[in-house]
Amino acid sequence: MEVTEGGVTVEVEGARDGASEGRADEVFYNPEMELNRDITVATLRAYADREPRAETYLDAMAASGVRATRAAAEGWDVTAADVDDDAVALAGRNLAPYDGEAVQRDANALLHEGFFDVVDVDPYGSPMPFADAAVAGTRNLLCVTATDTAPLCGAHFESGVRRYDTLPRNTEYHPEMGLRVLIGALVRRAASRDKAAVPICSHVSRHYARTYLELEANATEATATLDSLGFVHHCEDCLERDHEFGRLPDAPESCPYCGSNRVLTAGPIWLGAVADAEFAGRVAGEVTDDMGEAKRARTLLDTVADELDTPTHYDQHRLCKQWSRPAVGMDVFVDALREAGFDASHAHYSGTAFKTDATVAEMREATAGLA
Ligand SMILES: [Zn+2]
Repeated sequence: MEVTEGGVTVEVEGARDGASEGRADEVFYNPEMELNRDITVATLRAYADREPRAETYLDAMAASGVRATRAAAEGWDVTAADVDDDAVALAGRNLAPYDGEAVQRDANALLHEGFFDVVDVDPYGSPMPFADAAVAGTRNLLCVTATDTAPLCGAHFESGVRRYDTLPRNTEYHPEMGLRVLIGALVRRAASRDKAAVPICSHVSRHYARTYLELEANATEATATLDSLGFVHHCEDCLERDHEFGRLPDAPESCPYCGSNRVLTAGPIWLGAVADAEFAGRVAGEVTDDMGEAKRARTLLDTVADELDTPTHYDQHRLCKQWSRPAVGMDVFVDALREAGFDASHAHYSGTAFKTDATVAEMREATAGLA
């Protein structure tokens, strides 16, 4: 069958009958990922202005080549790689009108042989088996999707520990925990190759985390990126949390706010900004009306661009439940925090997520008159 995305028509195969689990289902066309692809195209447009020398784009797990073909239609010199011969044949047909080729190659082998300016790693599950090769073979921008959200956010704790070499913790801000676990792991892999990796745009959508890391081959800068890693100490009782930068956590024995001993420490995770606000705004500006998910993409990217750089967000419903108080509209809640003198913003992780520099007690007081 044919589908049209972002003005580009491609031939695809839908999910195979009987293949409900695993890669066989993911090899071909996944309409759920259209938002991801729309944002990728907008990011490629914005990145072409930021780094005019970038020309080559590798989709390392190209499947039917929808994303690769859309990149090629934008003028990128595209390589679409996949291990599946049917996928490569399909991607090759889709790329034929453009500057691009489809190759039947293992992503790790291909990425260890040469460089691409922009590399997209969008595997089924965790990207970590490809992380070393990806940081080795990327010159400028590494785009990574992770769909293993349960390990990332600590819901599947042991697999999260194994894959990401960190302690992920299951909290009410789990999408952000997952994103910061992912970025932290990728930054460390890049640093091991004397490369600085800095996220310039990131988002978490329903079933995946996505980050765009700008790479620089510079050992001093790579060391500096590690300074943005650290730990979060989270109280399961009062929901207060603190963070500390560094390699050695100094975890509190009890919560400094309420005295509870149910304090979880997560990390090392990325504590820095997950996006460059100005760049994320430019990406939002590159979303065009021919994209199927234009509305969602703009809303999401505008929220990312305006988010405070705090390492965790809060959920208004969770707090209001804690305070035995009805929730109010998010704009009303965020405005009340600002009027009380705190920094506050919406957060893209959910409709009830927000960020602030206020403590839980300060928030409770600042919003007490609302309900
Ligand atoms: Zn506490």
